Amino acid sequence: MSTTEQTYIMVKPDGVQRGLVGEIIARFEKRGFKLVALKMFTPSKELLEKHYADLKEKSFFPRLVAYMLSGPVVGMVWEGLDAVKTGRAMLGATNPLASAPGTIRGDYALQVGMNVCHGSDAVETAQHEIGLWFGGEVNQYKLSRQEWIYEA
Ligand code: GDP
Ligand code: MG
Repeated sequence: MSTTEQTYIMVKPDGVQRGLVGEIIARFEKRGFKLVALKMFTPSKELLEKHYADLKEKSFFPRLVAYMLSGPVVGMVWEGLDAVKTGRAMLGATNPLASAPGTIRGDYALQVGMNVCHGSDAVETAQHEIGLWFGGEVNQYKLSRQEWIYEA
């Protein structure tokens, strides 16, 4: 059981503009995850092209990059049991219309091109993204509430 899995979660420009940063942080905090990195970025086109390199052949790629360049984003790294998969579940489906109510996208978004947040899709992707956005630099500390989140 790994309680140290990490995922890269990012509030996209629409999420920042709509005042959802605190809400998204609160959901991860309350779920039991540990915040190990947090920063607001105005990312370069080059960084976004690296972040979304797997999508560069898609017809929507230029629109995606323009969207992500439309304002600052808030990047964070959350750590905990099954952080990648659970993080994705908390975000909801890529297309908000397919996202269940109770998920972030299912509660706050309607269109795929304005879907409020990003979450890594696999453990290796997460490590790659933490490298891209934070240079791999995350904080290490003991969360005092940990023993009330994980059984002994
Ligand atoms: P994610 O991992 O759930 O974010 O989804 P993907 O990795 O497949 O796509 C990355 C991001 O590209 C999505 O979160 C959307 O913001 C955007 N995107 C994906 N599909 C479309 C599309 O069909 N149209 C537009 N405009 N954007 C899309
Ligand atoms: Mg993705």
